[in-house]
Amino acid sequence: MDARTLTDLDRKHLWHPYAQASPAVAAHPVVRADGVRLTLADGRELVDGMSSWWAAIHGYNHPRLNAAAREQLGDMAHVMFGGLTHEPAVRLGRRLSEMTGLEKVFLADSGSVAVEVAIKAAIQCTGRSRLLTVKGGYHGDTFGAMSVCDPVNGMHHLFSGVLPQHVFADRPPGGFGFHPGAPDGHGSGAGGSGEHGVDEAYLGHLGELVARHAGELAAIIVEPVVQGAGGMRFYHPAYLRRLRELADEYGILLIADEIATGFGRTGEMFGCDHAGIRPDIMCLGKALTGGYLTMAATLCTPEVAERVGVLMHGPTFMGNPLAAAVADASLTLLEERPWRDEVKRIEAGLVEGLAGAAGAPGVRDVRVLGAIGVVETVRPVDPSKVQDIVMEHGVWLRPFGHLVYTMPPYMTEPDDLARITTAMTAVAATLPA
Ligand code: PMP
Repeated sequence: MDARTLTDLDRKHLWHPYAQASPAVAAHPVVRADGVRLTLADGRELVDGMSSWWAAIHGYNHPRLNAAAREQLGDMAHVMFGGLTHEPAVRLGRRLSEMTGLEKVFLADSGSVAVEVAIKAAIQCTGRSRLLTVKGGYHGDTFGAMSVCDPVNGMHHLFSGVLPQHVFADRPPGGFGFHPGAPDGHGSGAGGSGEHGVDEAYLGHLGELVARHAGELAAIIVEPVVQGAGGMRFYHPAYLRRLRELADEYGILLIADEIATGFGRTGEMFGCDHAGIRPDIMCLGKALTGGYLTMAATLCTPEVAERVGVLMHGPTFMGNPLAAAVADASLTLLEERPWRDEVKRIEAGLVEGLAGAAGAPGVRDVRVLGAIGVVETVRPVDPSKVQDIVMEHGVWLRPFGHLVYTMPPYMTEPDDLARITTAMTAVAATLPA
């Protein structure tokens, strides 16, 4: 099909994420993806600054991941997981358990489902049904997951009659990462790394809220250190440590949603590693298969599993062998590659490349942590206008709300990274104050 036909038929038949059935702005047809580059149907090549929503950490069309998929296809693409098992799932389960210290693994089919499973497990485990989370979070689009997304920007107003009512702490203050202009490059005030900059009043707020609701809480659920799709905000690991202490003190479970932060994105293997804590339940997804196939996981301690008993969930494509084989290959690749150095190099490149955006009148904040670079704008952005600008620079980004951000694949070369930061800086210069 030519580009025009693709676009027309797409608009006629297909829904896209968070979109009308026939949106005013058409989606761009992609015909290939290699390394960090997307090739559009009209021949344009774009450096992908999104890793397809944080997932393609090794880049596209990777020979090792292709080989793993091909090899597994020769054996079986899928078999049911009810009553059957197979080597790809067993290998992946063992590996994830070794990586996280959480022995029991439920292989789900998307991040949102992994969060649903975590919530179900927490409710079944404790016999209590409310959750505590922090404002500004994002945990997925299914109902249970949506109920712990930020109450204002998380679609609650559309579904208020059917969403369970959970307990929301204030948004964690301050930041974690680079703030241009700060003397140590790590922000001032409530931001910064180490114990410096911890907001004692916020610690008190968390303590007070947990104490007040402890009797009804099954779990505390948070995204460790980085709140992703809820606003791309970073927060101090001390708040995560406090939540761990409070969960222990009151016999509540701690669920870490590492779907966006897992597998090195923030500079540590998992966001929880910044705080040196282990959750009772962890959700993984996105980069788990290197962005190849849809698979996620919910992990927990043997103690939680024991108390849950029969976990009441079982999707048709649970434990899919093809996805499990690619996930295992992707994790081998991650183990082999110097991802810490790569992420550090990207962090340094983002700090340097985005420094120029910080002074623009339409920019509220510029922040960087690991391989995440964020330009927060004063006013909401027009996504298609921003996309036009970055595409002129040969870059693919997907801005939303007040955010123009990047999470590039780990093997992004300095030149390509500079292309991304140049495009973001060019956008910043056009933003209204
Ligand atoms: N939790 C977090 C932290 C996420 O970032 C996302 C996806 N943006 C999800 C859950 C939901 O994952 P999925 O889109 O695979 O359902």
